[in-house]
Amino acid sequence: MLIDTFQRPIKDLRISVTDRCNFRCSYCMPFDEYVWIDREEILTFEEIELLARVFVDLGVERIRLTGGEPLLRKDLHKLISRLSSIDSLKDLCLTTNGAYLAKQAAELKSAGLRRINLSLDTLDHEKFKKIVKRGSLSKVLEGLFMAKSEGFQPIKINAVIERGVNDEEIIPLVEFSMKHGFDIRFIEFMDVGNANKWKSDKMVPKKEILKEIEEKFSFEELGREQGRAPAVDYQLSGTTTRLGVIASVTEPFCSGCTRARLTADGKLVTCLFSEVGENLKMFLRQGASVQEMKDLIKNIWKERNDRYSEKRWEALYSENGYRAEDHKKIEMISLGG
Ligand code: SAM
Ligand code: SF4
Ligand code: SF4
Repeated sequence: MLIDTFQRPIKDLRISVTDRCNFRCSYCMPFDEYVWIDREEILTFEEIELLARVFVDLGVERIRLTGGEPLLRKDLHKLISRLSSIDSLKDLCLTTNGAYLAKQAAELKSAGLRRINLSLDTLDHEKFKKIVKRGSLSKVLEGLFMAKSEGFQPIKINAVIERGVNDEEIIPLVEFSMKHGFDIRFIEFMDVGNANKWKSDKMVPKKEILKEIEEKFSFEELGREQGRAPAVDYQLSGTTTRLGVIASVTEPFCSGCTRARLTADGKLVTCLFSEVGENLKMFLRQGASVQEMKDLIKNIWKERNDRYSEKRWEALYSENGYRAEDHKKIEMISLGG
């Protein structure tokens, strides 16, 4: 089995299919314009499929398509068809902001996609505008309910909670999810990239999120899926809704981190907080064989020693504290969250 320097196998692959996004979420892409990756630098569907098959051969069981906004990638359903035909892949998922989901849900379903994560941080139209800057909440909700009627299961709502921005949305989001049979996952605001001006006091810790929910609803802890998923899950009593919290800041889970990331321009990144990635596309386009690509990825994984969130946690509670701005990282849009 392929393992890194901390004995962690490679099990999950997040593939960013585009760095473009139609939203400008304050916690992710706050600026109006970015220097976008040139089109010819973006991996083709053939290249993504080839690399995905290599990763699966090396032990990857679950693939998640992300971005930027993955539904902006033309004909994404064709990529889904290619990936869903990989025999030993156990799970294929898509993370989307939902704005184009109403249009594409049916073709994504027919292509073999079974489950969706949808980002939704508020049910309030005004707050929504403030957070994402562009786009409309109604379109996202339309996409969400279209996905439900197409039979995607489970549909998980992801909400990043930022103090003073949407911390009053926790209970409405839980109630909404229970009412409509969605799962709900809260994510601690993280210092991904360099643009979001992260400060620890803007982050609402897992304990606080759960305490608030506990005052209104009862739930039972289920733990982490496969024992190593980023979210700790809970079952909301008397409902089909699973509640999850991803506490990357206050309860880091690096010791169980089996995730690799492939950027839209073909770089392998072994940690969400990496400064650089390894350019797989360059080797691929120079004519490397499948075996050579496999060996390359193997060697990168064997050397992996990332544990950024654990180190951040240690620094946060140390005398000197932690300053996000001292750490240069790849932006979330090119990395794929
Ligand atoms: N555009 C798609 C979407 O928003 O779902 C996919 C890409 S987005 C980068 C993937 C996930 O990263 C989303 O659930 C988003 O909420 C999350 N995310 C982005 N910036 C974050 C931050 N600073 N802290 C925590 N989660 C973040
Ligand atoms: Fe776009 Fe998703 Fe980032 Fe929001 S979180 S700016 S929707 S990539
Ligand atoms: Fe994995 Fe890096 Fe996140 Fe730790 S900080 S859980 S190593 S992605």
